[in-house]
Formats: sequence, C-alpha cells, structure tokens
Amino acid sequence: MSFTHSQDTIVALATSPGVNGAIAVIRLSGPEAVSITDSVFKGKDLKSQASHTIHFGTIRDGDQVIDEVLVSLFIAPHSYTKENVVEISTHNSKYIIERVLTLLMKKGARAAKAGEFTLRAFLNGGLDLSQAEAVADLIASNSAASHQIAMQQMRGGFSNQLKQLREDLVHFASLIELELDFAEEDVEFANRDQLRLLIEKIYQVIYRLIQSFEQGNVLKNGVPVVIAGKPNVGKSTLLNALLNEERAIVSEIAGTTRDTIEDEINIHGVTFRFIDTAGIRETADIIEAKGVERTMEKIKQARLIIYLFDPLQDHIASVQEQIAEVEALQIPFVTIINKSDLLSDAQRSEYAALNPIYISAKEQVGIEELKDELLNQVNLSQINTDDTIVTNIRHLEALQNTREALEKVLFGIDNPITSDFLAIDIRQALHHLGEITGTVTTDDLLENIFSKFCIGK
Ligand code: GDP
Repeated sequence: MSFTHSQDTIVALATSPGVNGAIAVIRLSGPEAVSITDSVFKGKDLKSQASHTIHFGTIRDGDQVIDEVLVSLFIAPHSYTKENVVEISTHNSKYIIERVLTLLMKKGARAAKAGEFTLRAFLNGGLDLSQAEAVADLIASNSAASHQIAMQQMRGGFSNQLKQLREDLVHFASLIELELDFAEEDVEFANRDQLRLLIEKIYQVIYRLIQSFEQGNVLKNGVPVVIAGKPNVGKSTLLNALLNEERAIVSEIAGTTRDTIEDEINIHGVTFRFIDTAGIRETADIIEAKGVERTMEKIKQARLIIYLFDPLQDHIASVQEQIAEVEALQIPFVTIINKSDLLSDAQRSEYAALNPIYISAKEQVGIEELKDELLNQVNLSQINTDDTIVTNIRHLEALQNTREALEKVLFGIDNPITSDFLAIDIRQALHHLGEITGTVTTDDLLENIFSKFCIGK
C-alpha cells in the first residue's frame, strides 16, 4: 500500500458482504468518484449536484438496467476521506454488487485495499492516527463501555490533549535550540523554572494516561474473572448458569447474527471474561491438591475472583482459611456460598459473618444478586468513560517512551548539562508524542495499522 497522497479513485463494498440486509452500500473515493458514477447512472447529471444530496436513478451497463439505486454525494473536502466520495445504495444482491463493482472498475475506479478509505482520511488530515485507530475499535466494539471509549477517541478527545502539550513543548524546544546559536554568549532564552513546570505538567498528564491503560484495557477486552474454589463446589455449574443465560439473552434479540462469544457475559454494558473455563470444567476430575495449585495460578491472572464454597463439604474454619489466602492476593473477590437449596437456616447463620452471597447454581437462585455484586466490585464509579482512556498498546508504548524522555529532561534541568543535550531529550519526547497522533510516522507503522481494517473501511 502506498502511504502518499494518491490521485486515483478507489471503490469497495462498504457494508458487510453476504448478510441478509435489504441494501448494500458501494463507496467510491477520489477525484473521479462523481464522474465515474455519473457515467453509469441514469437520472440527474450528478456532476452538477451539490454536496450532501441524494439522487434516485438506475445503474446501467449499456442499455441493461442493473439496479435502481440511491446515490449520495459528498464533495471534497466535505467527506470522510476529504476527497469526492460517492455512496451508491443498491439492493443487497451478490450478483448486483459484483456487476456494479465491475462496471465502476471498468470505468476507471480501482478496488480499494483494506483500510484504504480510512488511510486516505488520515493522509488528507481528516483524522489523526489515533482517531483512525479508533474507527477500527468502534466497528469492533461489542459493549457500551468499549463503544464509548472508541467514540470519544474518534472524536479526538485523546489527541487534542496531546497536541496542545506537544505545541507547548515545541515552543521550549525552539527556545533551547536558539540558545545553541548563541552558545558563545552563555544566554538562556528558555527559562528553566518555566520549562520545569511545563515538563512536570506534561509528566502528570502522561502518567495519568499510562495509568488509564489498565482500566481501558479492561473496558475494551472485558474484566478477567476467575471462578475458584475446591473441586465439586459447583464452579462449572455456576459458569454454565451464567453463560447459558447470556446465550439465551443474545439469541432472543431478534435478527441478530452475532456469534455468542464463548466465556463472556455482559452485565449492564460491562463485559466480564471468564478465564480458563476449560480448566474449571476439568477440575472435578483432578485431585484436590493439584486443583488448588492450578486455581492459584489462574487466580493471579484475574482482576476479580468469584470464590465458591460448598458448606456441606467444608466447615467454617477451612472456609475462613481459604478466604484469608485469597485476601492476601489483593484482588477483589466475591464470597459465594453455593448449594443454598440444600442449606438449613442454622447452616446459613453459621456463615453470616462472612457476609457471603447465597446462591444455588443448580437451581439458578441468587444469580442476579451475584451479577450486581460483580458490577459493584469493578467499581464503575472509578471508571469514567468520558475521561481520556488509553486502550491501544501502541499508544501505551509511545507514552512510556515519552515519560522516559521527560525524566531525562528533568534530570537535565537539575544537573549541569549543556543545552544541546537538553534539546536532544526534548526532541525525543516530542518524537514519541508525535507517534501517537501520527505527526511522526513510518510506512511500517501505517501498514501495520491499516492492514488490520477490512476492505471498504
Ligand atoms: P466443580 O467441580 O466446582 O466445577 O463442581 P460442579 O459444577 O461439577 O458441581 C459438582 C456437583 O455439585 C454436581 O453434581 C452439581 O450438580 C452439584 N451442584 C452444583 N451446584 C449445585 C447447587 O446449587 N445445588 C445442588 N444441590 N447441587 C449443586
């Protein structure tokens, strides 16, 4: 893929192929988008129509009518790619789509490569790099939280903040570089106290963004949860109860074709991902000691633990011991007494001090209460999706590199270091900040990002 501005006109199906929807949208972008469409369209003269208008007509190959369509026009620079963009809504037939695409290509359009529309939007300044990446996240989002983060990033919340900081730093970099020109005269154009204040301010912001990564990752990929407890306490039964309910909910939504994601449930927009479910399903078969060891391994990967007890097999002293062990891991956990259907009131009261949730995984009793508690434990009040949240590993790396460079700059201010070294460290920080928004890019990086898109995006 070429990462320079191109002059050709690209075309692709923008809707997903093979789905039983009523219409399909074919998108063109480039200088000839309107004239190529016009050459196969019978209706109004598209070349003389205003931007942001829709026109009814037919697509024809010679005398043969292929379909009745609606054509939407977006005239440069008022479009996603900042080029002329045409969207042709056809009926959703594989045959029609292929005929129209072939016809448009015969008239001079070229088949778009994966992500090429979004790449053009980036190259033409419509989106910066982090926004372009957010488009991919937005399309992939499957929960309210991941959707909101992607939306916020696409609108530029993330990069606006960094751009401003970068500009402030550029200002100082140029002052320091000016000092280099006057090296003989020992002048200081850049006030070191002010520079330190700025660096500290940027450092704070970068630090918070790095911190937000863990949170963002959880929202994007789901909260990793482990269901732990001794063999036969009912872990698999509970897991199945949670997952089966989720499958039932998903398949009840009429017309959805979404595949149920194995091992994930969604509670009020937050995804919980059960880790090592295969292991849970197996644990009934393995000996207890090994089971406990494996459980401990799994637990350490979790951000939330559901710890299950069967009071008919265990007694309170052992339960308390296990709780102490889990507590020591400092991972939030929910204490669950299972098999409540078999418990007498006296047995219940014995455990009251542990403040557990009583459930019957088998009878599906107490499951809603458990779900509420899971939500409660991730402490949503701490997570404000309107805040800038970093979810992208590439951004995280750039932020970490920026932080390192900033630390060097701070060291340089406080120690007798010549301006030229200080200038180098500031340039380094600027470089890494620029990597996030795409002010600084390489072809490898762009290839890597845009090849993850599908064709038509
Ligand atoms: P695991 O080894 O922790 O995964 O336990 P399982 O889920 O395989 O359950 C062990 C046994 O306890 C099975 O026979 C289940 O049917 C039974 N069981 C699980 N949950 C309950 C429950 O809430 N009530 C009752 N009565 N039995 C249960």
